[in-house]
Amino acid sequence: MTMKILKPTLKNIKKAAHYLNIGELVGIPTETVYGLAANTFNTEAVLKIFKTKNRPTFDPLIVHISTKILKCKNILLELENNNLICLDTFTQKAKTRAKKLMLKFWPGPLTLVLPKHNAVPDIVTSGLPTIAIRMPNHKVTQQLLSLIKFPLAAPSANLFGKISPTTALHVLSELGNNVAMILDGGTCPIGIESTVIFVHPGGQLTLLRPGGLKLSQIEKIANTRVHQKQRSLEHKNHPSSPGMLESHYAPKKPLYMLTKSILHLNKKDFKKLKILIKDSLQEILSTKTCKENNLPQIGLLVMRGDAKQKARKFATQLGFPVKVKLLSSKGNDQESAKNFFSSLRKLDVSPTFILFSEPCLNTKGLFHAIADRLKKASNKI
Ligand code: AMP
Ligand code: MG
Repeated sequence: MTMKILKPTLKNIKKAAHYLNIGELVGIPTETVYGLAANTFNTEAVLKIFKTKNRPTFDPLIVHISTKILKCKNILLELENNNLICLDTFTQKAKTRAKKLMLKFWPGPLTLVLPKHNAVPDIVTSGLPTIAIRMPNHKVTQQLLSLIKFPLAAPSANLFGKISPTTALHVLSELGNNVAMILDGGTCPIGIESTVIFVHPGGQLTLLRPGGLKLSQIEKIANTRVHQKQRSLEHKNHPSSPGMLESHYAPKKPLYMLTKSILHLNKKDFKKLKILIKDSLQEILSTKTCKENNLPQIGLLVMRGDAKQKARKFATQLGFPVKVKLLSSKGNDQESAKNFFSSLRKLDVSPTFILFSEPCLNTKGLFHAIADRLKKASNKI
């Protein structure tokens, strides 16, 4: 199985191009997370993505394009000529804004949702009249895109609703059986998905999903405020951007988000945690996995500061060994984003039976996206 992970030599990138040409799926590295890629214009291949991920067909895919297009005089016209978007309804204001964002942030972690061209199979966009497009900033995937004649429809390469993959091994562990191969591009430098922005035909911008590009940067370049989608207005089972589904990015073990930093937890708080722990333990005591682990642990995700000190307090108060992962000792947003999914995954595969996370109280910069992922991955206490 590990033979499916291939180093990004020219020979192997050509091999990936071949698989994509014949309608197979390939795991690809990007700067955000690993993607599960297929030919955008091959309906059957795209259907395989949904089946492999166990992804409901109402959750549309992001289409990944080559940097070649940046060399064209008019990037929007080129996207239209490539049968991806349709500019008929777009006002001059919308065109100018979309173009500005593309030229400034592509390649990079920005996905723009634009009116879709009829030639794009409906399965790619889940029947929506819009298409999500981005230009990944990863040389391996860009080299691959330069060898093929179609853009790549690629959601994150994980099972639907589960933790996003930031290494080739993560992809292998979850989807290995169903991909032709995985190109190993190392650890994803950003570690969290792209920011998704809806560009209205009138030019207004709406944030559909916070991600690897800070909102303040987008607002500065677009010279306008980006509206935030109001959750209360969303239909729970069919949101306008499924990245907004209420439960997502979740580990297999139950994950609870604490209400405050560990250093501030008091006796009463720990009492509540003990009840959760007791219930979880009882539930899995009967299962095989737990019998094999004679020392079940509590997993703990720490946002910042002294992780060892926090883990010690947790272990002393709760009476279980604690497996701890720290996002960033200094509370740096980029470092935290890079570590977020991989830390959750490590806690999930450890002999833990329950996971806790400190809350992400800072929502500036990339913490906006981290807070969003954490909220969707966890249960309330
Ligand atoms: P993933 O690549 O798995 O992170 O998921 C792609 C996400 O992009 C979806 O879950 C949506 O949130 C968003 N998306 C893709 N296409 C559209 C679209 N046409 N309209 C709104 N959101 C979209
Ligand atoms: Mg995803």
